[in-house]
Amino acid sequence: MIGQIDFSNKKVIVIGGGISGLLSAYYLSKNNFEVFLHEASSRLGGLLETIQTPYGLVEKAAHSFLSNDEVEELLSELGLEVLNLNQNSKARFILRNSKFRKIPFHFFEFIVMLLRLSFVKHKDEYDNNAAIWVEKHLGKAAVDNLFFPFINGIYASFPEEIAIKTAFKKLKLKNGETLLKFFLKKIFLKKKKNKIIVLKNGTESLVSYLEKYLKNKENVKIYLNSKLNSIPDFSNVVICTPSEEARRLINLNNASLNESFNKIKYSSLVSVAVFVSKDEVVYKPGIGVLLARNQHPHILGVLYNSCAFLNRSTEGYESFTVMLGGSLSPDVVKKSDEQIIEIILDFFKKNYSLKGDLKKTVISRWSKAIPKYSTDLYDFWDIASQTWCKKKGHVLFSNYTGEVSIRGLIATARNGFVL
Ligand SMILES: Cc1cc2nc3c(=O)[nH]c(=O)nc-3n(C[C@H](O)[C@H](O)[C@H](O)COP(=O)(O)OP(=O)(O)OC[C@H]3O[C@@H](n4cnc5c(N)ncnc54)[C@H](O)[C@@H]3O)c2cc1C
Repeated sequence: MIGQIDFSNKKVIVIGGGISGLLSAYYLSKNNFEVFLHEASSRLGGLLETIQTPYGLVEKAAHSFLSNDEVEELLSELGLEVLNLNQNSKARFILRNSKFRKIPFHFFEFIVMLLRLSFVKHKDEYDNNAAIWVEKHLGKAAVDNLFFPFINGIYASFPEEIAIKTAFKKLKLKNGETLLKFFLKKIFLKKKKNKIIVLKNGTESLVSYLEKYLKNKENVKIYLNSKLNSIPDFSNVVICTPSEEARRLINLNNASLNESFNKIKYSSLVSVAVFVSKDEVVYKPGIGVLLARNQHPHILGVLYNSCAFLNRSTEGYESFTVMLGGSLSPDVVKKSDEQIIEIILDFFKKNYSLKGDLKKTVISRWSKAIPKYSTDLYDFWDIASQTWCKKKGHVLFSNYTGEVSIRGLIATARNGFVL
């Protein structure tokens, strides 16, 4: 979140009814603000959408998220039912050289990583891209086989495009400190482990519960099909749209802010829900697999939905989600359904010994899916907080303002909008 709400004036306009806008409206209305929420489309939720099919539940974008205190508090306030990971499906795999590995390193690479972790000291290098930083602290093999899949899984970007100071704000090593010492301190101080969860009726149930809550509040007004072209005169304005729309709305005669807004880039993504017959695939149980560098021209990873969580597919079927695109293959969004299905079919035959066909696929294309957490984005945060967001009551809050994940957005809204 960039900027601060003005708690002395309890009237606010929230622009954008995705999860960021809904969370803003929720916490501000609980804090006795009079809230006016405007959403351009005919439905709330933005990227979050769940579809029920005869084969099982399909998430078009977000599937799962980590839990923390703020998430637990919100879900219990709303009365949402949560599913935890199945006990025997906790493994996370990395695909390297056609093998599914829990530890994606050869012996020698592992030793190099341990040595670097234990002895390489940090020295003022947060301006570098994340690949340079990780290579210094863990080695090249760690960049290609651990960090590359991890960054692709979260940001659909290459480590070379991501900045540590933007994407890993908590990774603040002191000069002279090793990564091992930093991690040990964290482990020692951490009270409880964040769990990965899904919502029983899908991620969109978070949207529908928030919507139901807000519609019952007298101090909240929701306007659908209300695409704003300028900002009405309110002392509190929270803009929860993607960056391009925020730039258009602010329409400020400030060249540096405009230029900085224009430098925010998003990755494209194709998310494909895939259902296959249970007895036609073979795979090791787990949460899913991410792909190491140079393993596939289009695929970033595969989530094992029905293996990891209950109620994700109907009897006799397995549910997977395949993520394609990102920086790895930006043009995959332009491929036809048939071409995308062919890519997935080929991957499943090779890697999961798929015997039959894909029984059902639901393809979702996102041309601007996830913001790239680059040094340009870091500079934008700085410029925005010195210009438009400097005025109390001017707030930018969406997945490009500090947190991409639902967990991060919930925690930010909870802490930014409640006194
Ligand atoms: C494929 C995919 C998978 C993901 N998986 C996960 C996951 O598993 N876990 C996780 O935690 N996160 C995941 N994410 C990230 C997460 O879903 C997003 O970061 C989050 O949903 C963004 O919400 P938002 O409200 O900031 O933006 P959006 O959802 O984009 O909402 C913005 C809203 O603003 C509205 N709007 C735009 N312009 C105007 C205007 N002028 N006036 C009024 N309204 C306007 C839009 O219509 C839209 O409803 C995933 C994202 C994608 C794309």
